[in-house]
Amino acid sequence: MMLPKDPAENLAALIRCPSVTPAEGGALTALEAMLKPLGFTVERPVFSEDGTPDIENLYARLSGNGPHLMFAGHTDVVPVGDEAAWKHPPFSATVDNGEMYGRGAVDMKGGIACFVAALARHIETHGKPKGSISLLITGDEEGPAINGTTKLLDWAAGKGEKWDASIVGEPTNPDALGDMIKIGRRGSLSGTITVNGRQGHAAYPHLADNPVRGLMTLVDALLVPDFDEGTKDFQPTNLEVTTIDVGNPATNVIPAKASASFNIRFNDTWGAETIQAEIHNRLDVACGRKKYRKGRKEPIEFELTWRDGPSHVFLTRDEKLIETLSGSVEAVTGRKPGLSTSGGTSDARFIKDHCPVVEFGLVGKTMHMVDERVAVADLETLTDIYGRFIQDWFERG
Ligand SMILES: [Zn+2]
Repeated sequence: MMLPKDPAENLAALIRCPSVTPAEGGALTALEAMLKPLGFTVERPVFSEDGTPDIENLYARLSGNGPHLMFAGHTDVVPVGDEAAWKHPPFSATVDNGEMYGRGAVDMKGGIACFVAALARHIETHGKPKGSISLLITGDEEGPAINGTTKLLDWAAGKGEKWDASIVGEPTNPDALGDMIKIGRRGSLSGTITVNGRQGHAAYPHLADNPVRGLMTLVDALLVPDFDEGTKDFQPTNLEVTTIDVGNPATNVIPAKASASFNIRFNDTWGAETIQAEIHNRLDVACGRKKYRKGRKEPIEFELTWRDGPSHVFLTRDEKLIETLSGSVEAVTGRKPGLSTSGGTSDARFIKDHCPVVEFGLVGKTMHMVDERVAVADLETLTDIYGRFIQDWFERG
């Protein structure tokens, strides 16, 4: 039987499936066809929720005696953007000058293609691993992420699945394969402040209360001072004001209302609750400030609303997992990867509630861009790294 040992072939098969979120696009079927000959049991649960599209996901398991390793990822891709701007059609998997073009080449069909190839080579050479391997693949990472990884984890855990470690195949390397393993992520939280003032004539400010002055006072308090200076494992917490809205078309009218939204990326100095408390405290203290509101006796009247749930900060401390992966990267590339917690959130934030998780994949430079592409040589190298990792991780028991 033909085993899916060639990562470039695997990737080409996946790229040719136009699986733009929420469409399955044939990608999970293609993946299932690769996993079945390797002995995997494959299930494809569909999850739904009101107001979001149904999403098909995949959970594949190869059972053995020993620890359980999970590889996690997604087959959905972001839209292609201006298709005419691509050098080669985005779902063609054309190889040009040693690079394979296609949406999802690096984010992250490439990671999946390499992991599958590594497994196929391992199984052909050594037989089944000394333990269990599962692939937890969602079709909803680039979308609302509601019918994806969280539900898939709960669904599998509900059937008694337990994992000892997980590796996520997202593109983690900024410039070259071997740069960076991610061992944690900062938390993320968004909110909106609305200041209620009193509308009036710009020439008669004493009869009105300009909410823009109040909003500036509150925004100022969010931006200064810094939240922290960073920690051993994390960069400093940063708060970005993402929009300020007044919507007032007139220059001679003091508006009635003004609002500002912000997003905060916080490190392990904070938990979601303590960073929220800090923000509430800053705003409460700032309420009475007169810097922009001279002569005002009443405090600024405002509302703060938090958006959705926060993403929690996490740091993986599983030395065996980190050292094994780091050692595999170094053995294959000759480079010692940095252990980083930078960047945005990923599905690892859900997995960390079930088992220790690290992330390592391709070079991310072209992700989400026109002409997303991957060096075919990198596919071979990543396959070698994953292969070595599978070997060593199970060896260490
Ligand atoms: Zn991704």
